[in-house]
Amino acid sequence: MLLVLLQMLVPLCGAAPRCDPWIRGQCKAAAAEEKPKCTDILLSYCDDMPYTRTMFPNIVGHSTRRDAETAVEYLLISVVEQLLGGQCNPEIRMLGCSVLAPRCEGSKVLRPCRSACEAAHKRCSHAFEGIQMAWPYFLDCDRFFVSDQEGCYDPLEGLKAEQEDEAAQNLEAPQPQQAAAPIQFTYHSSSQMIDILKKTEDQCSDISRTYSIGRSTEGRELLVIEFSSSPGEHQLLEPEMKLVGNMHGNEPLGGQLLLYLAQYLCAEYLQGNERIQTLINNTRIHILPSMNPDGYEVAVSGDADSNYSDDEGDRYGYGNVGRNNAQNIDLNRNFPDLTTVVYRRRRQKGFRTDHIPIPDNYWFGKVAPETYAVMKWIRSIPFVLSASFHSGDRMVSYPYDLSKHPRGQNMFSPTPDDKVFKLLARTYADSNTATSGECGSPHDGSQKGVINGAQWGSISGGMQDFNYLHSNCFEVTVSLGCDKFPPEEELFLSWQDNQEALIAFIEATHRGIKGFVNDEEGKGIKGARVSVRGIRHDITTAENGDYWRLLTPGIHIVTASAPGYARATKKVHLPTRMQSAGRVDFVLQKAPLDPDIEEEESVLSSSSYDRFDPYNQYNQYTTMADVNRQHEERAEKPWWWSYFASLGGPVPTWLLKRH
Ligand SMILES: [Zn+2]
Repeated sequence: MLLVLLQMLVPLCGAAPRCDPWIRGQCKAAAAEEKPKCTDILLSYCDDMPYTRTMFPNIVGHSTRRDAETAVEYLLISVVEQLLGGQCNPEIRMLGCSVLAPRCEGSKVLRPCRSACEAAHKRCSHAFEGIQMAWPYFLDCDRFFVSDQEGCYDPLEGLKAEQEDEAAQNLEAPQPQQAAAPIQFTYHSSSQMIDILKKTEDQCSDISRTYSIGRSTEGRELLVIEFSSSPGEHQLLEPEMKLVGNMHGNEPLGGQLLLYLAQYLCAEYLQGNERIQTLINNTRIHILPSMNPDGYEVAVSGDADSNYSDDEGDRYGYGNVGRNNAQNIDLNRNFPDLTTVVYRRRRQKGFRTDHIPIPDNYWFGKVAPETYAVMKWIRSIPFVLSASFHSGDRMVSYPYDLSKHPRGQNMFSPTPDDKVFKLLARTYADSNTATSGECGSPHDGSQKGVINGAQWGSISGGMQDFNYLHSNCFEVTVSLGCDKFPPEEELFLSWQDNQEALIAFIEATHRGIKGFVNDEEGKGIKGARVSVRGIRHDITTAENGDYWRLLTPGIHIVTASAPGYARATKKVHLPTRMQSAGRVDFVLQKAPLDPDIEEEESVLSSSSYDRFDPYNQYNQYTTMADVNRQHEERAEKPWWWSYFASLGGPVPTWLLKRH
């Protein structure tokens, strides 16, 4: 049907006369083009605008009606309803008309309002994503639309009034108060996942927000949904945590569960579930359901594309199509290997296992865009706790992932925070209600579904080691079930098995202590160290001097220190049953900067800690990859491309997402 429509439209754009009885609206003779003055709108796809007079040249510079009518921009708005499957209709068409046939009054062009454009962009950009089409350049809200102060008009005003009328008529029917859409326990494609996250954001706009941390190799959005009583900002003393799914695209269960979790949090909050409300009011929760959407798409479609297979082998050793990203990189081997750095220096005096800078040589290797995006994310938010979800076994593993001995393939390799990690891993494993235990033969060293990563199988460049050694964040790896890709009918059961574990794990963000490290004037000290006696791993304070330190119950000696201040120490007793983190504040007194070697070292290492891609290697590499990709992808443009490309004249590459 669309094909027929497009075929009918193509002649319209090539030949005279311009009248075609199939086209909506009337055929009228072109007005004589002289001095700019208002003229009737003669573009048939714009004949329902709330005004009747326009002017050429229009806002994008078409100098006559004929120019506008034969342009790709006009062809696009004439078929956009069909292309988007009826979504955002007629907003997008009318918005386009307000640029191609702008309102004219008293010989002056009136520009449409930026706010109307922005609202439409927010609502409709994912519909364009869905057909892999870029947001049309002529709907660029900043370029072609203006603000209220500059005297704009709302081209969609009539439409809104209509919709409000309709809504008013529907008011008599009782509306379910704030009910969220039911969760569909099925597999969702990458674009459906994005769609669901955005819908959840709309339903729970007071407590959630979506944001992108970057794009995958093939340009898919790495979209995060955050839940917080104050979305978009860090609140003092409120801990932040994250959950990451689909790191391996062929282990899609975690991504789906996280998608259900986002919808569950939203729905339960709205329905007044006290536990969920308390959780969201006191925790900032970030959920990235799909870290490797390219691999996931391949795994879901079942294409045995060799580019995605894993030929190096792994600890599962089967069914690896879609495991890696589109560059055939295993993302859980692609992070900087800081564990080796720690092992090399572990005998040095005063050496600690935190905030290890990324070695410069890392940037000369192949860094996946997905890895890059997640590293930047980890560095930009003061995360306290994290979990990444895999499948292929039923086990929660914790750092280190790399064996302390180069030849020790299954060697217990604990961090200084081994007790804390065991507690965190236990929190998840014990709340998981799945009845069966490990898959296949039992693993050496596992205890009721919890195991040290290196003991399970040593890997380098893993994400959980990076979190622990580079940031304040403690991450564990949850392998959700024996079947990497369980059948759809098991998804609901898996959700039931894991729902309590997910909530309990988020609650674990509040284990241990938190507080401020302030100076004598009450001002927070950024980057102060919080040390716990017996644990060679410090936590540093965030922007305003607030910190969180996950700890097991018991007695701890805690010290706060910062260059230029005298250190302060407190003894802390943490009871076994804790509802929320114990509050421990420090006030540091100024002290002359001791030319102590240790202090100097900490200053030095903090400046190298700030180095992130210092040679711009990543950007150079990505630019090269983009060029290569354009060659490769010439044959696989979206299905609608050939119509627009066959029109003659300049090729509308602006319709392509990665142009
Ligand atoms: Zn995995």
